[in-house]
Amino acid sequence: DAVINRIAAGEIIHRPANAIKELIENSLDAGATNIRILVKEGGLKLLQIQDNGHGIRREDMDIVCERFTTSKLKSFNDLSNINTYGFRGEALASISHVAHVTITTKTADSKCAYRACYSDGKLVPPKPGTSAEPKACAGNTGTQITAEDLFYNVPTRKQALKHPNDEYNRILDIVNRYAIHNSGVGFSCKKQGSKQPDVNSLSTASTLDNIRQIYGSTASELLNLEKVSRKFDFKFNGYISNANFNLRKMTFLLFINHRAVESSALKRTIEGVYETYLPKNSYPFVYLSLEINPQNVDVNIHPTKREVRFLNEDEVIAIIGDAIQERLVGANC
Ligand code: ADP
Ligand code: MG
Repeated sequence: DAVINRIAAGEIIHRPANAIKELIENSLDAGATNIRILVKEGGLKLLQIQDNGHGIRREDMDIVCERFTTSKLKSFNDLSNINTYGFRGEALASISHVAHVTITTKTADSKCAYRACYSDGKLVPPKPGTSAEPKACAGNTGTQITAEDLFYNVPTRKQALKHPNDEYNRILDIVNRYAIHNSGVGFSCKKQGSKQPDVNSLSTASTLDNIRQIYGSTASELLNLEKVSRKFDFKFNGYISNANFNLRKMTFLLFINHRAVESSALKRTIEGVYETYLPKNSYPFVYLSLEINPQNVDVNIHPTKREVRFLNEDEVIAIIGDAIQERLVGANC
């Protein structure tokens, strides 16, 4: 049973960057406006996230790491949203099957914070011979989650990973994406022991500020994009680069209903549009936030495959491609 759970967990959490994405989404779901991340050895030794969200109640601490535990099922209507991501209540459980998890959390109405350790979905004693019960401690409202020794019990998964620097860059990529998309939330990410964070965004910044800060002053030529399609029940907004954007490859940040996803079909269409506008060896920057009726987003896609499918995909992609083309033409005449 433990082995099966571990294999299932490895399907959801492939690498440190998947874990951090899940943890960031949880912090955002908890209403956090400040999210600090600490990483050691590409996230394999340590992955820690601290937020100022609403915290976890003491009485929920026993079960937060159990499979299918979620506080986000509010009504029957939510079921379609749940299906959209297909794995509600599985993230913390999965992480606890492949790492040592410690949670310190405090809700606003609790006098103190509580700390507990988890393994394989269950509370475990912090030290052999001590109690596994959550322990009262000092702390501010919010949650700190620490995952240590990721994949300590899944050697094959560990071997499949790249160099820690590479894993760290994947983590930074995720943090950057969420920092840009959530301009009202301050993010920081750093390696343990280093003074300077590698991502440092302010909760007062705008999306445009964040893009400029993260991608450099070359982000000066950005065009905004905004459109609603009643016919296909979706809308989008974003920022796209006009001419030269000193990038070594195309940078495409795509959010659907506020989750970072990928769509190779949409990416190809956008590349096609840019081909006629950009000189050789220059690459576009595209940030797009799509809101699609959750019922129209494919439910059968596996959670780790960030690749999504949605209803009327060809039409939706064509509308986005046309909007980008129009904007580029407009800006250049
Ligand atoms: P889901 O996000 O799909 O509900 P998770 O396994 O990611 O499932 O999280 C399980 C539950 O743990 C959440 O529903 C939430 O109640 C609680 N939780 C996890 N992280 C946080 C956090 N940072 N702040 C507050 N609650 C959290
Ligand atoms: Mg979650």
